Amino acid sequence: MSKFYVVATPIGNMGDITLRAIETLKSVDLILCEDTRETHKILEKYAINKPTMSYPSDDIVGKDSRQSKLAKIITLLEEGKNLALVSDAGTPTISDPGAMLVSKIKENFLDSVQVIPIPGPSAVITALSASGLPTHEFTFLGFLPHKKGRETLFKEIAEAKRTMVFYESPHRILKTLESLVKFCPKENQKKVCVARELTKIYEEFKTGSPAEVLEYYNKNPDKQRGEFTVIVA
Ligand code: SAM
Repeated sequence: MSKFYVVATPIGNMGDITLRAIETLKSVDLILCEDTRETHKILEKYAINKPTMSYPSDDIVGKDSRQSKLAKIITLLEEGKNLALVSDAGTPTISDPGAMLVSKIKENFLDSVQVIPIPGPSAVITALSASGLPTHEFTFLGFLPHKKGRETLFKEIAEAKRTMVFYESPHRILKTLESLVKFCPKENQKKVCVARELTKIYEEFKTGSPAEVLEYYNKNPDKQRGEFTVIVA
């Protein structure tokens, strides 16, 4: 039976890869990547010499190219080959492409291809784990919509009983913090934790009321760079 591995890779610190992930990547016939250049950095570091191919993403490749890549992947699995799926960073399919591919494989092969997760880093769990905010129940929102539905979502965040977590880009972090100030009135006592550059040199957790965290980022424009995960509790 062919095996299709979904392999988590580091979100910054190259040391954050499991032994099982390395063994798996060394064992497969082909590694399917989001961006082969990004994946080659980790493959080189761990002396993994395996062929790579970018995989069909709904967003970035034309429909024909997507279909032909999908057909190629299906043929390889029919031939009994083992494949691994990675994304540029973290766990594939979590706010990353690959979900459509996993779904198609399950649809095409039912039980004749084993889809095996190789767990590892994901920014959402990494941020929650050291945030100090309640983690027993949480809702993960992925990336917030830019326009349609954005205001409704902020209202939901403001009223939520559970911890809410989402990903944000450096271009929108200030705007998002401003919205949190606007939609979370002082009396509902929301706490915000912005987890920036997790596992990297300039890793930082900034926690406070929405207004306090906004003030901090307004005063420190150099901290508006990098990768952000936002937690509201
Ligand atoms: N699949 C990935 C995962 O499992 O974490 C997430 C991919 S998503 C395209 C990338 C977003 O995740 C970034 O824009 C940022 O919001 C968040 N993220 C990724 N790495 C991060 C890091 N080192 N520190 C903080 N947030 C991070």
